[in-house]
Amino acid sequence: MYMDEKKVISEELLNSIKIVLVGTTHPGNIGAAARAMKNMGILNLVLVEPKEFPSDVATYRSKAAKDVLEMADVFSDLKEAVSDCELVIGTSARGRTIPWPLLNPKEAANEVSNAAVSNKVAIVFGREDRGLTNEELGLCNMHVHIPSDPEYSSLNLSQAVQILVYEIRVAFLEEQNADDYWDVDLANNEQTELLINHMDELMQQVEFYDVDNPRKLLLRVRRFFKRSRIDVMETNIFRGLFATIQKKLK
Ligand code: SAH
Repeated sequence: MYMDEKKVISEELLNSIKIVLVGTTHPGNIGAAARAMKNMGILNLVLVEPKEFPSDVATYRSKAAKDVLEMADVFSDLKEAVSDCELVIGTSARGRTIPWPLLNPKEAANEVSNAAVSNKVAIVFGREDRGLTNEELGLCNMHVHIPSDPEYSSLNLSQAVQILVYEIRVAFLEEQNADDYWDVDLANNEQTELLINHMDELMQQVEFYDVDNPRKLLLRVRRFFKRSRIDVMETNIFRGLFATIQKKLK
C-alpha cells in the first residue's frame, strides 16, 4: 500500500512541520524525540527553555538523528516559537485541560496533512512533570490527547512524540493528493494574537467587561478565533472594523 514511500512524501510537506518541546527537563527525552522524528522524516525540532541543551545524553539518545539536534532552534518563549505557524496543535496527557477542540492523534494528523500543503504547522509538547500551562494551551488552535488509560494517562514525552509523528506520516501517505483549497491564506499565530489583543483593547475602551473580573470572557473570545481558523482577509476585516469604531469613539 505504501510502495516506494521514500519518494512519495515531498520534503516540502515534511518541512512545514515543527515539533516543539517546552521546558524539557531530561535531555535524554530530547534525544529520543529527535530520533522518533527522524524515523518519520520530520526534522524540524524547536526547544523552548530546555533545562539542559546541548547535552551529551541527548546526543547519545538521538543515535543517528544528531543532525536534528544540531539544527534545533532554541527559544525562550512558546509564543515566539510558534508565531509563524498557521496551525498550532497542543498535546495534553489529560483529556480536557481547558474546553477546546480536542482530537485524537489520527484526527490531528489528518488536520496536519491538510494544512501542511500550504501552511506551517507546530505540534507542541509539554514538560515531563506538569505538561503545558493553560496559557500555552491557549495559544493552540486545537488540542490532541492520546487516548491512554485514564488510570495512568501520561506517556513518556518522546513516546508521545513518536505516536504523533507516526500518525502524521501515515496521514501524508494516505492523503498525498488531498488538496485543501482555500482562496485566502490562513492567518498565522501572530496575526491571530494581534486580532485578539485588538478586540480586547476595544472591549476595554467601551467598558464591555469589568477588567477586574473578566471571568471567562477573554478565554471564550480567544477560543472562538482559534477554533475558526481565521484567514488573513477575515483578520483584516475585523481589525479594520475595530479601528473604525475606535476612531469614531474619539
Ligand atoms: N503530568 C503531566 C504529564 C506530562 S507528560 C500532565 O498531566 O500534563 C509530558 C508531555 O508528554 C505532555 O505535556 C504531552 O506533550 C505528552 N503526553 C504524554 N502523555 C500524553 C497523552 N496521553 N496524550 C497527549 N500527549 C501526551
